[in-house]
Amino acid sequence: MRTALRRGAVCACALMLWAGLSTAEAGKPSDQESLRLEARIKHWRTLGNVFRRAGVEDAFLLADRYTDQGRDEDAIRLYAEALQVDSWRFDKQLKLARLLAAHARADEAAQKAGEIARYAHDESLASQAEALLQQLGRPPADRSAPPSVPPGPLTDAKLILVPVGPVHAHLLEELRLALSWQLGLHCEIRAQSIPLPGADRPYADAYLDQMWRAVGPTPGETAWAILGESVRATLGMGSRHIRRSDLLEAVLRARRQRGESEAFRDTFTQLATAGQYDTGKLLATLKLELPPPTPPLRGYLGVTGADLFAPGTHFVFGSATPGFGIMSSFRFFEGANGMPLDAKTVEERAIKQAISSTFFLLNIPRCTSAGCVRAYAHSLEEHDRKGMVLCEWCRRQLQDALSGSGQGGF
Ligand SMILES: [Zn+2]
Repeated sequence: MRTALRRGAVCACALMLWAGLSTAEAGKPSDQESLRLEARIKHWRTLGNVFRRAGVEDAFLLADRYTDQGRDEDAIRLYAEALQVDSWRFDKQLKLARLLAAHARADEAAQKAGEIARYAHDESLASQAEALLQQLGRPPADRSAPPSVPPGPLTDAKLILVPVGPVHAHLLEELRLALSWQLGLHCEIRAQSIPLPGADRPYADAYLDQMWRAVGPTPGETAWAILGESVRATLGMGSRHIRRSDLLEAVLRARRQRGESEAFRDTFTQLATAGQYDTGKLLATLKLELPPPTPPLRGYLGVTGADLFAPGTHFVFGSATPGFGIMSSFRFFEGANGMPLDAKTVEERAIKQAISSTFFLLNIPRCTSAGCVRAYAHSLEEHDRKGMVLCEWCRRQLQDALSGSGQGGF
């Protein structure tokens, strides 16, 4: 039945091609909409995870079209790429599982189907996944109990945790134990910490943006404020370099909101000394301060209590390149509705991030499993929703990486 349907889809595309609806190269049936999406996806691939997630729908749409056109290999690759940044799209997980099953990749298909059955809230998707498991001759998924945390096999591979700026010593020790136990690494903590330089993005800048939007100075008010500040500077009463904060203060003064202009100045000055750190710069500092890792040492993971960002993002939990990673516990102390957090939740959040960062510094690409501890988290809520265990694919990748036999998969 599936083969007949697929043949039908291919025939339809062949007809469209014949009718001159596409200029795609021979053997790769396409159409104007696919070409438009392909151009967008080419750009999408150059983006970081945060923006990839925002534009993920185009990737799913194109993967759906590839499936309809019978371009299964292209569809498998694109579904996998898109699910790396949005793994809780179980409708797309099911499409990928079916394609994998149709292409003799039964183990991967069964893993996906098992996860859909276990995690999807949609009963229809869960039962379709169960049906696929049955079709593959696999036992039904265990939907009751979450999987336990088995220890990773102990290898001679070593990882060093490096404190960067202020870090909770207790949290660092918890990370050391968790990485040793779950990943089978010899994990150590570096005795000396690396000091933090001045913040790369002071909170004062974000505060100023927020206030500027809230106050909403009209172009006329701004022009008057610029003129007023220029006169003050000329008379030696202010800075010759007119800053946006000066303008906002002048606008508030002009509106006779004296209390507000003073409150703004006080808060702005207070926030000028605290702020966020650029992960790229911190990784460069680690590479400068630490000798390159040579086996059995596989890399360094910097751990900081400071807030991190990457260009174009509000914040990030961490970032890593082969051999070097950096993660922050800053956002993990945030509770819902201002409620204080228990230490266990903070630890669990930090452990999930430490495992994720460690895989990246071992040069293992992100997986596509929703239940995996390495699933991409777009927010703290999604970070909390992730399980604490590695999926089978990641477990295999880890074993290969630690034994030096390379990577595989999608
Ligand atoms: Zn995984």
